[in-house]
Amino acid sequence: MASQLQDPLDVGQLAAQRTRLEHDYPLGRFSRLRDSLARPDGVAVVDFRFHSAGAYPALEGAVRARAWLICQRCLKEFEASLESPVRVAFVARDAEAGRVPEAYDAVTAPGGQLVLDEFVEDELLLAVPLVPMHATPADCAMRKAMVVEEVVAVEKPAPVAPTQRPFADLRNLLKR
Ligand SMILES: [Zn+2]
Repeated sequence: MASQLQDPLDVGQLAAQRTRLEHDYPLGRFSRLRDSLARPDGVAVVDFRFHSAGAYPALEGAVRARAWLICQRCLKEFEASLESPVRVAFVARDAEAGRVPEAYDAVTAPGGQLVLDEFVEDELLLAVPLVPMHATPADCAMRKAMVVEEVVAVEKPAPVAPTQRPFADLRNLLKR
């Protein structure tokens, strides 16, 4: 059935109805996540199936997104696939966290209420690599080569005084 997406959600009710929740979120709306992004572009796709795990409301599914990150090896932007598999059971108090079935992570939802916006953002923050990088060093090298070619192309026509040749070393490097 169609799910109500007005935060906060009643996880007990969603679990009792075995609701499947599918929703898209623009990444730009997540203020904490934006610090990790090179650009606020992209969309997170949420696919959750609510059910019961023992005595606790639970959900299973994933948060997926394509997001622009900064490669820490070459410092260029690149588009990364983020995926956070989710299997959580909701407890009313932190003290109950140890009682959920072993396969589940416990999440505290006071009064059975879950602010889905914050939950999804937390999952995305977990999915962002601590040190984002292009998939392979070759991807970085390709980007670097393109940048060097651009610099040389721009600087070549400029007259260079014999005593000031800042790019002489660079050209020698390129000849090797
Ligand atoms: Zn890179």
